[in-house]
Amino acid sequence: MKRIGILTSGGDAPGMNAAIRAVTRRALDKGLEVYGINYGYAGLVAGDIFPLTASDVSDRIQRGGTFLYSARYPEFAKEEGQLKGIEQLKKFGIDALVVIGGDGSYHGALRLTEHGYNAVGLPGTIDNDIPYTDFTIGFDTAVSTVIESIDKIRDTATSHERTFVIEVMGRGAGDIALWAGVAGGAEEIVVPERDFDIAEVADRIKQGREKGKKHMLVVLAEGVMHAQEFTDKLNEFGDFQVRSTVLGHVQRGGSPTVRDRVLASKMGAYAVDLLEEGKGGVAIGTEDNKLTYHSMLDLFDGKHKPDLELYDLNKSLSR
Ligand code: ATP
Repeated sequence: MKRIGILTSGGDAPGMNAAIRAVTRRALDKGLEVYGINYGYAGLVAGDIFPLTASDVSDRIQRGGTFLYSARYPEFAKEEGQLKGIEQLKKFGIDALVVIGGDGSYHGALRLTEHGYNAVGLPGTIDNDIPYTDFTIGFDTAVSTVIESIDKIRDTATSHERTFVIEVMGRGAGDIALWAGVAGGAEEIVVPERDFDIAEVADRIKQGREKGKKHMLVVLAEGVMHAQEFTDKLNEFGDFQVRSTVLGHVQRGGSPTVRDRVLASKMGAYAVDLLEEGKGGVAIGTEDNKLTYHSMLDLFDGKHKPDLELYDLNKSLSR
């Protein structure tokens, strides 16, 4: 193996740049060459590929987004798309790949491995919804961004003695809601992994009011329902002055936190080490603070498990 390609695919996440930097620098350190591929699999098929030097990745570690850009390119799910990508790998002399993205991006990586081009996956998504890793690159930054907003909403909620439903991202997973709910001191956390009863939520809001709570914050994972729908349902139970806020895409941006930068750096370097060992079709994770890797096939069968102890913890802390 002489030349590694690297691409970012699917939704962007803070820390992707730190991962690109780590892959590039580790590979150069080992005497390998590195080529950047713009716009994920779309750029691979289009041949939007260029050499990366050590200085190309300088001043990137602290930046959000991905300087290789990202794209969704459904055509890559078809063999025809994959073969076009392989033609480009041949043309540019790329022997192996690092793919930073989510589950969908891993499917593309596995197809390339099956065609003889080893690809290692790094979990880059704010949702933290990938099996066999405690954390994904971008999650910590997203939660920190959510917390900044929750703290601000709390100010206005207190001033007007209002209940706020705050919808956070996470797709089908409740991780962002769980961590932000506990860290933000929310009265209620509503996640897809736990059933909820709107009448009980309304009841707890009433009880909180009676106890003299000035604000009530409900952190709602987007995978449950939209904030406005949840708010409308709550308002049917009485005059709570419930307001809803959807934090939206601010959660995907911003300078990565220390944790995301370090995680991305460790994982990026490890990806190069694994490729050097001839591994492909595997994805890197961090479990109990140790770097691990698993076959992508196992990952597709696996189920991500959020830390639901946080849910129970919050129930007892928010009385
Ligand atoms: P996120 O979690 O942020 O959405 P993701 O990687 O899961 O990230 P997807 O849009 O599902 O995002 O996938 C990203 C890209 O991976 C797709 O646009 C496509 O190019 C490629 N891809 C997805 N599914 C497959 C598949 N089954 N086979 C080959 N390539 C795929």
